[in-house]
Amino acid sequence: MDDLFDAIVVGAGPAGISAAKAMAEAGLSVVVLERGQFPGAKNVWGGILYREPTEAMAPGFENEAPLERPIIEQRYLLLTEEAMMGATYRTQRFATPPYNAYSVLRSPFDQWFAGKAEEAGAEVYPEFTVVDLLWEDGAVVGVTTGDAEGELRCRCVVIADGANSLLAQKIGLHREWAPIEQALVAKEVIALPPDVIEARFALPSGMGTALEIFGESTAGLLGYGFIYTNRESLSIGTGALLADLIETGLNVNDILDRLKAHPAIAPLIAGGETLEYSGHLIPEGGYNRLPQVYTDGAVVVGDAAQLVNPVNREGGNLAMLSGKLAAQAIVEAKARDDFSAMSLSRYRELLDESVIMQDLHKIRNVTDFAHARPHLLRDYPNLLSAMAEEYLRVDGVPKKAKQQKMLAMAKALPKRRLLDDLIGAARSLA
Ligand SMILES: Cc1cc2nc3c(=O)[nH]c(=O)nc-3n(C[C@H](O)[C@H](O)[C@H](O)COP(=O)(O)OP(=O)(O)OC[C@H]3O[C@@H](n4cnc5c(N)ncnc54)[C@H](O)[C@@H]3O)c2cc1C
Repeated sequence: MDDLFDAIVVGAGPAGISAAKAMAEAGLSVVVLERGQFPGAKNVWGGILYREPTEAMAPGFENEAPLERPIIEQRYLLLTEEAMMGATYRTQRFATPPYNAYSVLRSPFDQWFAGKAEEAGAEVYPEFTVVDLLWEDGAVVGVTTGDAEGELRCRCVVIADGANSLLAQKIGLHREWAPIEQALVAKEVIALPPDVIEARFALPSGMGTALEIFGESTAGLLGYGFIYTNRESLSIGTGALLADLIETGLNVNDILDRLKAHPAIAPLIAGGETLEYSGHLIPEGGYNRLPQVYTDGAVVVGDAAQLVNPVNREGGNLAMLSGKLAAQAIVEAKARDDFSAMSLSRYRELLDESVIMQDLHKIRNVTDFAHARPHLLRDYPNLLSAMAEEYLRVDGVPKKAKQQKMLAMAKALPKRRLLDDLIGAARSLA
């Protein structure tokens, strides 16, 4: 490896690779260090990849990237212990190019994406774990993998080491995330033949669906379960706020087992072989708890900077965009030959102007709103299910009496709490 790089990127996830690619394209010398055996080896997501933001990072990716299925519909399910309710949006506009989104498996996708950064001129080195940053005169000047020979110097470090970034913590850019600032997710990839997937989910050949599942899918905790259809497998997972898991003593692996055994879900995965099992944190502190994202000689991107929108299932695209914006700030800093915190604060400026911060600002109170109301994903699904059962059951009871019974069920809800929930929801989602 060379002596002094313009930039060292720690982590070959979407944030690190898009930063590396953009900097290399601008002519900077860039090295990426990744602790996994290869990019994507240790990475976990659901995972839905959005076309438009990915196209902006890697033009023409649809023709060469390892993609699973175009996602032609979104299903939302609400589970109680025994029942399932749902809504589906399917449109031909998502089923014809240009598609809106694809299901993707991280391991092949990350390897492909890292290849694009290499094509642009970045050097990507797997099996290098950065254990610390090098400091000189109050500025970051490089990284170390733990021994003298592992010291690499650069003008700017891009910290892209993902959720719970230890490096950003080490240099005091953020503290350890609190349990209310992160969700813990368990996920499995379950193999099934393509024709079985298409029959079970009523999909045209080669097309895919995304299911987001609330209520019993998380044992009523704040979070959601998901099923995404891949070409020859399903990604199924569930996760909840760490604070709630700790408080209730529930284990996310057990919750996933419960979801898989639910009478509405079990037939969808029946006969499938589990290929992969993983667990991962999602940083969800968002706008109100955003860490400092730059310092002298370093910037923080992607999950390491808490740039995740859990309400809209967006993380990968925000990671890529933040990497690109950091790259732009570093290219400008190089033109000024100034990598001070003042100069790199341009990155925060670009973030603030971007869709990332606009969206994170919009949802900034959602987690606090929902966390303060543990009854939301328990009481309302049970009420809706009881009302639906009453409405649909044909049992000789006159319809008017049924209507009165359903009204009585709704009226039994504490009125103050209902009002507070409605106002709180409107305020936090407005
Ligand atoms: C279960 C789950 C489902 C999700 N579903 C979706 C989805 O459907 N759509 C979506 O857009 N987002 C989704 N996300 C969020 C998305 O995965 C993340 O926002 C995104 O991966 C963040 O990218 P990143 O590059 O910042 O971090 P990561 O992808 O975590 O990459 C960090 C990289 O840094 C490496 N690394 C860490 N420490 C070191 C070190 N010290 N030295 C060297 N390398 C290091 C890691 O090995 C890793 O490769 C999901 C997340 C989870 C956990």
